[in-house]
Amino acid sequence: MGVERTLAIIKPDAVEKNAAGAILKAIQDAGLRVIGLKMLHLSEQQARGFYAVHKARPFYADLVKFMTSGPVVVVALEGENAIAHWRELMGPTDSTKAAKGTIRGDWGTDVERNAAHGSDAPETARVEIAYWFNATEMQAPVEALP
Ligand code: UDP
Ligand code: MG
Repeated sequence: MGVERTLAIIKPDAVEKNAAGAILKAIQDAGLRVIGLKMLHLSEQQARGFYAVHKARPFYADLVKFMTSGPVVVVALEGENAIAHWRELMGPTDSTKAAKGTIRGDWGTDVERNAAHGSDAPETARVEIAYWFNATEMQAPVEALP
């Protein structure tokens, strides 16, 4: 455990609902720190690359279509146990099974349109943060400061 970094994405459905601010506030109220932040309208290539791990799944094409349907907000987070903490705040993948008070329970619609993404492990978090942010676009790691 200890201090971790993780990658969050506020997906197009939540941005369309004007929920980006509310979701960022929920993140901060939970004690996680925003260390990188950008709004992007993903290209098909960017979305396909980000979700490459799911390319053989039946939902892949629809997922790419959804993720490119409007702008997203990509967020790098830091905090104690950040990977599991953010996934807990989001709730389960299927929004219809997510409790009220979770991001997906409050803002998601179904198993695809579920308002937010979160990395699932330290290695995926590292790869996913590097996919969207270069070193000058986010807060430097403590060990890199002079
Ligand atoms: N997804 C979908 N249908 C499914 C499972 C997942 O459309 O049956 C979408 C959904 O948007 C999900 C994303 O694909 O967030 C990635 O799936 P994953 O299993 O990694 O879920 P997550 O880690 O986001 O909870
Ligand atoms: Mg996942």
